[in-house]
Amino acid sequence: LGARGDSSTAFELRLSDTPVPTAEREAEIAAPKFGTVFTDHMARISWSASTGWHDRRVVKYGPLLLDPASAVLHYGQEIFEGLKAYRHADGSIWTFRPQANAARFAASARRLALPELSEEDFLGAITALVRTDVAWVPSGGETSLYLRPFMYASEKYLGVRTTLEAEFLVIASPVGSYFGAVVAPVSIWVSQHYHRVGAGGTGAAKCGGNYAASLLPQQEAHERGCEQVCFLDAATNTQIEELGGMNVVVVHADGRVSTPALTGSILEGVTRSSIIALLTDAGHEVDERTILLTELQDGIADGSIAEVFACGTAAVITPIGRLAGEDFNLTVADGAAGAVTTRIRGELTDIQYGRATDRHAWLRRL
Ligand code: PMP
Repeated sequence: LGARGDSSTAFELRLSDTPVPTAEREAEIAAPKFGTVFTDHMARISWSASTGWHDRRVVKYGPLLLDPASAVLHYGQEIFEGLKAYRHADGSIWTFRPQANAARFAASARRLALPELSEEDFLGAITALVRTDVAWVPSGGETSLYLRPFMYASEKYLGVRTTLEAEFLVIASPVGSYFGAVVAPVSIWVSQHYHRVGAGGTGAAKCGGNYAASLLPQQEAHERGCEQVCFLDAATNTQIEELGGMNVVVVHADGRVSTPALTGSILEGVTRSSIIALLTDAGHEVDERTILLTELQDGIADGSIAEVFACGTAAVITPIGRLAGEDFNLTVADGAAGAVTTRIRGELTDIQYGRATDRHAWLRRL
């Protein structure tokens, strides 16, 4: 019986009659490019206000049937998550802190007025899908199966109010390294005109709209020769918030570490909180606080800031080698990956890939 005692939370398996042939699948997962290839199946649960969550199933991956009047297409009522399944050397498959993603998904649902999904269903859907498509989990190097849970308002209704019907799905994509083969430092454009969110907005939620708002500034970053965009707070336009899809961490020359505090307008990254724990374990003093753009500029210029890196599930930890904006262009130290950045990246990936003791009990076997 399920958590509510009234319905089964088991997933019905409806296997694909046209799975990708083995040789083709093996070729796909040998050199995966981020987010372009998907496994044979997807997990799915439907919701309606009258019946709650129902029809837990794993079905063939394929296009969705969407009414043109579905609320999500008009008002953007949608949320998502991102996490990975890792294959260890003994062949076992693990996820990293998936309960944190389940909790963040529930928080995002509350902010977007979507129905909350229980941790049991969130983890159950991931487990059912990964077990079904276990042959798609790559091995070797920094490869993994990227998992994308998402939920959208599916009700056919053009009135502006919260939906009475929703769909939850999980799709999966074999991936290699997000920015390419090696951990090369990235350059960052600080957006001084566009903001991602404002106070009281949806910044702490993982909803599609936040990403839609970040695309034009991201395009501007590219035009200015930078790979990623960094947002400042909307109220004062002076405080570092985060990148379009990653949190920011600053390593001072004296070993202290700072990262922007969770003000409600940035996403609470699972990688961010894991790094805070690992750095604290290693004896670093870690402050979650306000970081002014001017502090970053001055510290990089005078050498009191030794390293800056970005962190998130997709790219793990990526050194920031250059920081630019309308009237500045600064190279962080010598522009290469710093010692703390490299060490903490190694510690985190060693835990994720089962090469180091999981002392915080972050891994969950699938
Ligand atoms: N900030 C934003 C805006 C993101 O999209 C992400 C990726 N989910 C992160 C930070 C990092 O979060 P996590 O470490 O949980 O992947």
